[in-house]
Amino acid sequence: MSRTRCFLPPYLLQHLALARPDVAARWEGTLAMDERLRSSRLMAAGRMAAGSSTASAASTAAGGAAWVVHTAGNGTDLPGDVVRSPSDEPSGDLAVDEAAVGIAGSLALFEEVYGRSSYDGDGATVSLTVHYGRDYANAFWDGRQLVFGDGDGEVFDRFTKPVDVLAHELAHAVTEHTAGLEYQGQSGALNESVSDVFAACLKQRLLAQTPLEADWLIGEGLFLPGVDARGLRDMANPGTAYDDPALGRDPQPAHLDDYVDTTDDNGGVHLNSGIPNRAFHLAALGIGGTSWDGAGRVWYAALTGGQVHARTDFAGFAAATVAAARELGGAEHVEAAWEQVGITPATAEAGRTGGPGLPPPPGSESARSVRVRRGGGFAGLTTEAEVDLDGDDERAGELRGLVERIDLTGLRTGRPQPDRFVYDVQLPGASARVFEQDLTEDLRRVVELVLDQ
Ligand SMILES: [Zn+2]
Repeated sequence: MSRTRCFLPPYLLQHLALARPDVAARWEGTLAMDERLRSSRLMAAGRMAAGSSTASAASTAAGGAAWVVHTAGNGTDLPGDVVRSPSDEPSGDLAVDEAAVGIAGSLALFEEVYGRSSYDGDGATVSLTVHYGRDYANAFWDGRQLVFGDGDGEVFDRFTKPVDVLAHELAHAVTEHTAGLEYQGQSGALNESVSDVFAACLKQRLLAQTPLEADWLIGEGLFLPGVDARGLRDMANPGTAYDDPALGRDPQPAHLDDYVDTTDDNGGVHLNSGIPNRAFHLAALGIGGTSWDGAGRVWYAALTGGQVHARTDFAGFAAATVAAARELGGAEHVEAAWEQVGITPATAEAGRTGGPGLPPPPGSESARSVRVRRGGGFAGLTTEAEVDLDGDDERAGELRGLVERIDLTGLRTGRPQPDRFVYDVQLPGASARVFEQDLTEDLRRVVELVLDQ
């Protein structure tokens, strides 16, 4: 496969100049050569965008804005107030402007490399919200829009800061509109991995890196100073991204032999994604060229080609990538990559390993305490805490009032959503697993109080 230099739109160069002056300097030299190409693309984009001043992904085919950034103003009402769309100048609000750069670059990756117009393939306007919640250390796609928190001020910085987080969330939307991989067990880990794959492709494209030059980190720069973490995940070496007192040690497996069976995190979707992540890294090295143009095309073809569906497992996904690579080139490298992580491509459903994310065992419900366990989220970390309702904890009074009002048995719970938190709530006499989006106002207060957020 031929190596193509990535076309760097002006808005990204501007961002790079701020973020990575060294890389921006390298690009200055190539820009003159790209000038004619850029001019013609911009003219075409300009005609399409009708008044927009940015590049080709700035508007939809139908003429609506390609994206709109909102602010939730640290509340939780979505989508919040509109603050920026493609025709606007930078707002001066870091989170807003990072989201703008990230979504423009992510849309450009899908459109310019894979020929896909927005996440639905039909130019849907992407809605984004920043400043979601208070001390909210997460980002997610809720089926309608992308949402980003400002971090917790202790471990996590803004979730708009690493540009790959933007691409990760947009890729969840692409997956939902294509293969529809169920967010649980192996298909859930594949859903997660696909998002990391396109996140890595975006980052490497922006930095004009080959697979050998790239760091293969997801969420580099997401951590506040003093946290011992290179990133949140390392696709080249899963399980080595961090080792820190506040975070613990990166628990991602790198081989099927170490697959983690758990009911947390929808069956360990953010853990077991390390296995297909590493397969992509190895395939990218084997195929050569750039990851977005080489292995990225293969993975995109597998995701959208009809062979991968809601319950496809690792072996089935591997088979779809091998089939795609037979068309696009590099099938032997793709096959070898999967074998190295312990997966033999097979189209037959071999049965999924990994728990379906069942609610926890009831435990000692008679205890006069409230226990909350939170898993999932972009980071896939689990935290747990308990408050004794009869003790002298200052939260006990408010909790007793809440517990009297809450009826867990009457709670409506839906389906897991990508990167959202999952709560196991244990009250005296009852327990339930509740997805973040299904929390009632009272339950939201309970988990806030118990986890001391
Ligand atoms: Zn995700």
